[in-house]
Amino acid sequence: MDVNFGGFVPISTVDWRGKAVCTVFLRGCPVRCTYCHNASILSGKDIRPLEEVIGMIRSSRLLISGVVFSGGEPTMQAEPLIALAGAVKKMGLLVGVQTNGVYPETLEALIADNLVDRIALDIKARWQRYDNLMKVPCVGKVQRSLALCRAAHQSRKIQEFEVVITLFRGYEDEVPYIARECSDIDLVIQQGVQGDIPPLSCSELKKIADQISRPVRIRTREGGEISYEGSRDRWIASER
Ligand code: SF4
Repeated sequence: MDVNFGGFVPISTVDWRGKAVCTVFLRGCPVRCTYCHNASILSGKDIRPLEEVIGMIRSSRLLISGVVFSGGEPTMQAEPLIALAGAVKKMGLLVGVQTNGVYPETLEALIADNLVDRIALDIKARWQRYDNLMKVPCVGKVQRSLALCRAAHQSRKIQEFEVVITLFRGYEDEVPYIARECSDIDLVIQQGVQGDIPPLSCSELKKIADQISRPVRIRTREGGEISYEGSRDRWIASER
């Protein structure tokens, strides 16, 4: 089996909070967000045998406790991703997936076969705005992914599940809406960076988080990732 390969980071301490992992990027994504930081791997081909990628992971084996699959959109390549996750599990490592949720059937297969331990699901806007923002109509699929992951987390089929909002200046009012949809799920507000638009600062994101009166994690380029306890006005630095 082959995989359309996007890249490999042998060791990362930022892709899975509290863990050293390696990160495998799979090429291709149908969504095409204008702000995508991995735009160079959204299309094109770099076809590699699965064994080559497994070899890369094996070379990091002694330094890591897990593997994160990112992209592009890793769930777009269902069969290679499932095969890679299986190989990772056989090595005794944890599996994390970062996804936009557009391929719920891949997530369902990974969950059913106990091949994933952590899922980070992007929710990019309130549902009513979704299909206007994305290049492909996908709101129903993302909603299905959210429901699948929520149920899997509640039943402990997956250990960790978080929803990630990448937030840009001017879109602050999306946060309360998404937070309501995910009131029972760990929420990450991630600083969006695009072109000349000044990104929201850490303190601005803190004020936005105050409006939803719940703990969140905030990620910024300048501050890394912190846990924020909301209106109690207390920052707790997370070790990453
Ligand atoms: S969904 Fe993710 S990988 Fe795909 S274009 Fe958007 S930011 Fe990039």
